[in-house]
Amino acid sequence: MPTLADIVTELESRYDPRWAESWDAVGLVCGDPAAEVRKILFAVDPVAVVAEEALDWGADLVVTHHPLYLRGTTSVAATTSKGRLIHTLIKNDIGLFTAHTNADVADPGVSDALARAVGLTGPLVPLSPAVDDPRRGLGRVGSLPEPVTLAEFAGQAARGLPATAGGLRVAGDPGRAVQRIAVSGGSGDSLLGTARAAGVDVFLTADLRHHPASEFMENSGGPALIDAAHWATEWPWLADAAHQLASASAARGITVETRVSETVTDAWNTTAKCEDLT
Ligand SMILES: [Zn+2]
Repeated sequence: MPTLADIVTELESRYDPRWAESWDAVGLVCGDPAAEVRKILFAVDPVAVVAEEALDWGADLVVTHHPLYLRGTTSVAATTSKGRLIHTLIKNDIGLFTAHTNADVADPGVSDALARAVGLTGPLVPLSPAVDDPRRGLGRVGSLPEPVTLAEFAGQAARGLPATAGGLRVAGDPGRAVQRIAVSGGSGDSLLGTARAAGVDVFLTADLRHHPASEFMENSGGPALIDAAHWATEWPWLADAAHQLASASAARGITVETRVSETVTDAWNTTAKCEDLT
């Protein structure tokens, strides 16, 4: 049976911690490197429901995309939700490992899975290539097999992504023809200019804010925008990461059981239309 150290080595061979942004916090958060690992749960967020799922399933390790302690801490006391989560994990011999911005820029990484989920076919290239290796980078650009309307593509993307309360928000003429698409999992505000320069028809990402989106759309001739739930844009990567880890382990004669959490942990869990509020 592999140890936690073996699994960490395997994960870091795909998601090199050196690729992470300087502000990020990736890698092993808790767990004994010598502990044996048989069952690994993959999830986007290190939150209480995910820890409960790990406990119920008997996981030895949870791999999450988002860090638990991004900004550091001086206490893991169970007086906060994060401290309580750490206590739950350690008391039950469950490790926690994070692959965040190092998974965003990996090849394949978070946006490859997103691109496939929304129906892009053929080769994918980074929207913003890494300086040291242009095969890696933030976001992906790819194409649909044939042009469709923006409305049709938005519908296809909504069906390809896991359902969330807010669904997708679309900015642009629903009838315009689209084929070349850029995607970026998670918050993609910073790539708006890059998407325009790339000459794509649509930029699909998450967490777009009013002013950047409004100013972007005021400058006509650029891509349409699709804003999805943050969790939904990153969730497709979990299955890829789990599959790659299981098959790489199997090739070395090691059996691990992987599972992808289907619990929706997006922050927004319901919506109300204006007329519902009167
Ligand atoms: Zn994210």
